[in-house]
Formats: sequence, structure tokens, C-alpha cells
Amino acid sequence: MKKVHCSKLRQAQLCPGSLLAQDGLPEQSNPEAAAGTRFHEAMAKGDPAGLDERLTTLYHEFKAKELQIGDTGGATVTRIETKHENEYLVGTPDKVVMDTRDGVFHIYDWKSGFAEQPSAEQNMQLRGYAYLMFREQAATEVFVNLFSAEGTKPVYSTARYSLHNLALAGIQCREIVRKANAPDAPRIPSDEACQWCRARGNPTRCPESCKEIKALAKTSKHPATLRKPTKAMAKRIEKLYLAGKEGEKSWAKFKAYLREVLKEHPDSIPGLTLKPGRMDRKLTDPEAVYNIGLHEWFEREGFLECVTISLPKLKMVARKHTGKKLDIQIEERLAAEGCLDVKQGEPSIREEK
Ligand code: SF4
Repeated sequence: MKKVHCSKLRQAQLCPGSLLAQDGLPEQSNPEAAAGTRFHEAMAKGDPAGLDERLTTLYHEFKAKELQIGDTGGATVTRIETKHENEYLVGTPDKVVMDTRDGVFHIYDWKSGFAEQPSAEQNMQLRGYAYLMFREQAATEVFVNLFSAEGTKPVYSTARYSLHNLALAGIQCREIVRKANAPDAPRIPSDEACQWCRARGNPTRCPESCKEIKALAKTSKHPATLRKPTKAMAKRIEKLYLAGKEGEKSWAKFKAYLREVLKEHPDSIPGLTLKPGRMDRKLTDPEAVYNIGLHEWFEREGFLECVTISLPKLKMVARKHTGKKLDIQIEERLAAEGCLDVKQGEPSIREEK
């Protein structure tokens, strides 16, 4: 099985075929990556000499934030060797410390580029690192801290992984790596996945991305990659977003008002009328359904095809019947049997206060 680097977990999640498509291809260098390497060396050494003006400012901001978080603010910490790997995952976090008072691990990841990053909570790279600490260092609680340059104003986010979250992270990472190792893993082009892919545009390794690039080039309205908005544009986009959100709220209130008017006076607004609401039908007695169905329509297998099991409800019923909280055991058992599929939804937009 080929290992996945934590920094490539998100790519493998979006495009499972990217792992094998890139296998053996050389790393591509670009000026942003080279500047990122210099920045990381400076952060590790604690010496910003040789960085350009933007990165020097960023260096001091990141260092100040580290102090504020409490890394060296009185806690007894020990630095952990950063390179870790297990049988399917490899990762080298920028910095890891363990608070010797409580055994809690703190992982730091510094992003000096301009690209917007998913928050610490949603970040697959950090999730991979957290899981490696659990596997390799027996961590039972991990905080991941993301420091991201993102243009002019750094963005910071933190997420906590409890023992339960760490076990779930492992299930998710293992599933991504398993799918990526399948010989017929699909290659699915997208701006996010292809952005840093070494197989992009390589007709032997990834014909799909070649088609995609040609198709995008033909459509002048859609540039091949999403361009980073300029500072002025970013301000306008933010205003537009907030205005749109306000508009949505007013629109919902207006529709509720209009519905009431039409209920009361059906013919009062020319061109508008009420459409009946959706009729919801719900089965209320599963045992009765099972008995009727089994005798008249289908066998046990047929019945199971109609059943959807909710994980929270399953945990609740198990707790009711055993008197014990078995959430972790249930998830581990289901994962071991291969009947728990963990998927992460699309990120949503959050406003910063
Ligand atoms: S270029 Fe895109 S589609 Fe092709 S393997 Fe890489 S990530 Fe997948």
C-alpha cells in the first residue's frame, strides 16, 4: 500500500486517483514554494534574517500569536520530533509540543502563502497530523493550531481533538488512503485537487485533467484556475456577501408575509397564488410494517433494503438498553465491520468577528 502524506490527504479525498497518478513524478518547484521553505526554516530557527518584508512581518505576527496561545507562556512543554509515519500515513507538522502537566499535544502549522486555507477544524492535513500523534505518541487529546497568512491579515484557527475525534480521524484517513490505493481509483479534476498536482496536464498519467484544461480554455468565461481576488475586489466581495445575507433574511420575511396575505385573501395579488404544501407521510409503527411486509410482500432482505439506520439513534437506543454510554465502542465496531462511512460535507462560509 502506498502511503499518503498528510498534506496530500485533501487532494486524495477529492481525487482518489491522484496518489497513483503522481507516483514517481518529480516535485515541481515554484517561487512561492521556495519562499515558503525559507519562511519555515526561519520559524524553526527563530531567526527571520533573509526574509523579505512581507514574510518578516508575518514571522513576528506568528511568533507573537504563539506566545499568546500559551506555547511558551508558563507551560512546561517538551518538543516532539515532528516526522511521523505509520503503515499508511506520513506527516511532518511544523511544530509539535506536549504540555508535560497534562500530556496534551499542541500542533502548529504555518502557512505563509496567499491561498485561503480551510479552518483548523476542517483541515485534513492537520487532522492527519493529529491522528499520527494519537497512533505514534499515544496522545489522547490534541489541539491543532493553523496560522495562515492569507494576503494581508493573518488568520488563526484552533481545533481540539478528543480521544473520540482522534479515533474518527483515523477511520477517515484510513478510508481515504484505502480508496486512493485502489488500482481503478477515479481521477476527478477540480480546481482545488488539481492545483498542486504533479500529474496535471500529463496525458499518460492524467488524461482527465488534459480534457479539463482544454475545455476550460475554450470557455473564455471560466479561467482555468480561480484567480485570487485583489485587495479591492476582496473588500467588495465581503460587502456583497453581507448585503446578500441581509437580503436573504428580508426576502424570507417578505415571503412569510405574502403567504399569510394570500391565505387570507387568495385573489388579492394578480399573478400570484398559493401552491399546496408538500404532503409528508411517515410510518409510525416499524414492527407492524415488518409483520405486514414479511407476510405479504417480501422476505427479510427486502425489508432491510427499506431501512435507514441513524447513528445517533443507534447510540441512544444502545445506551437505553445497556445503561452505558457506548458511543466509541459502537463506532469502532461498525468501522471494523466496514459499515460506517465517514464523509465530510462542503465547507460553509463563516464570518469573522
Ligand atoms: S490532475 Fe487533477 S484529476 Fe488528475 S490526478 Fe491530479 S488531482 Fe486528479
